[in-house]
Amino acid sequence: MTQQTTAHWHAAAKSMKIRAHGIIGGKSTQAQSGKTFASVSPIDGAHLAEVPLMDSADVDMAVASARTAFEDGRWSHQPPAARKAVLMRFAELIRESRDELALLETLDMGKPIADSLSIDVRAVANCYSYYGEALDKVYDEVAPTGKDFFAMVTKEPLGVVAAVVPWNFPMLMASWKVAPALAMGNSVILKPAEQSSLTAIRLAELALEAGVPEGVFNVVTGLGPDVGRALGMHMDIDGLFFTGSTQVGKYFMEYAAKSNLKKIGLELGGKSPNIILSSYRDTAHAARVSANSAWFNQGEMCTCPSRLIVEDSIHDEVIEVLKDVAKTYAPGDPLDPATSMGALVDARHTQRVLGFVDIAREEGADVVIGGRKTREKTGGSYVEPTIFDNVTNDMRVAQEEIFGPMISVISVKDQDEAIKVANDSPYGLASAVWTDDLSTAHKMSSKIRAGMVYVNCYDADDMTTPFGGYKQSGIGRDKSLHALDKYVELKATWIKL
Ligand code: NDP
Repeated sequence: MTQQTTAHWHAAAKSMKIRAHGIIGGKSTQAQSGKTFASVSPIDGAHLAEVPLMDSADVDMAVASARTAFEDGRWSHQPPAARKAVLMRFAELIRESRDELALLETLDMGKPIADSLSIDVRAVANCYSYYGEALDKVYDEVAPTGKDFFAMVTKEPLGVVAAVVPWNFPMLMASWKVAPALAMGNSVILKPAEQSSLTAIRLAELALEAGVPEGVFNVVTGLGPDVGRALGMHMDIDGLFFTGSTQVGKYFMEYAAKSNLKKIGLELGGKSPNIILSSYRDTAHAARVSANSAWFNQGEMCTCPSRLIVEDSIHDEVIEVLKDVAKTYAPGDPLDPATSMGALVDARHTQRVLGFVDIAREEGADVVIGGRKTREKTGGSYVEPTIFDNVTNDMRVAQEEIFGPMISVISVKDQDEAIKVANDSPYGLASAVWTDDLSTAHKMSSKIRAGMVYVNCYDADDMTTPFGGYKQSGIGRDKSLHALDKYVELKATWIKL
């Protein structure tokens, strides 16, 4: 673990040479139009770089490059053991570039440097080694068809795959798609969010250095309605895998329907219910973990436990603990290793998040603490950790994804009402139940309509478990061996004997 000071990180940020360009066919590429857009740090409003403002002409070039690479087999036809060696080397290079990648991520989207180092970069490297390790253990099948035929069921790469990702965990969300796609032999085009292009570019450079052939991992930078749409509508992309808002996820289904019916995978929003019951032995512990999980990453998480559903009898104690924990999340300098809450991704998002404070008040909820912008003199985008109390589930702060450091507390009379409230949402991503009663834990976790249920914990995490949601939280799963299936076609080959 690197133990660096705030001064060290500021000096490193000052002297850092930021490379901002697309990567197409293994080459650093500017937009054909010559246009760029500014990458601005939410830490202090500093101008970090000019990033190519690509458009559909650049997307065409990236797709052509990825298609050529796929068809000539420079990656897709390599033996699994060879692809494995490259992905393992890639993971090593990420580990060796830990400080650089963490600093870029923090400067670009505002999360605390300690989290970038210990969570993001570590998880990204682990993701490539996990799929590197896995890929030469994937077997094809011989179907039990009887003696007159020999029928093989083989897994073949989809072909050219695009990944469109958000800004909250820029490298990690990209890697959850890029790693399994590469593992199965696809060529990839990655479109990072406009707020966070920098680590995507660096990742693709490291991939080249590790031996991923030119044209197999391309990065196109630019805006969603241009580059993202062009990828979604492209007739020569075989699969598109997206993480982001539910609204944009719906656009991608529409793009696929209007173009070539490319395969679509969606990891979308959430409004995760987190139920603390009086049958849990340690209310204070449950409330502490809940607050930590909600305020981690400035609350900019699809799995944020933003609906805290508590039984009436423990409500007051929960509120007191949340208020105590909030003191440890006072927003600070993201380059200070002691900071636990950094900057929100940009000024526009900050305005949107703060808008929910007025909405909460208008709808009759109480703002117990927080709800204000802070550290304004820095020129950055900081919001205090915020608690809304006396929330009812029909309020917008209980139904809509805020994606900021805000917890809505909803009181219920018993576990039946808790389940009703939990499931009364268009989303179904993560959820939690706190209880010491084994039977209640089983019953409630089976009744909650969500892709992830945590019992007596929140945000337990490992590459081995699938990640994704029910309902409007998405289609398909990232992570685990199950994710490999998204990046292959199954082919049945019949041979008459
Ligand atoms: P978006 O869903 O708008 O953006 C995610 C990605 O999609 C970005 O790369 C974006 O590009 C791209 N995109 C945006 N519009 C289009 C479009 N019309 N066609 C194709 N691609 C598009 O998320 P935002 O970053 O704008 O955040 C808005 C809200 O979405 C958040 O407040 C939060 O509620 C939710 N969200 C959920 C996430 C999750 O993990 N589930 C992650 C991020 C956001 P670009 O940014 O360059 O425009």
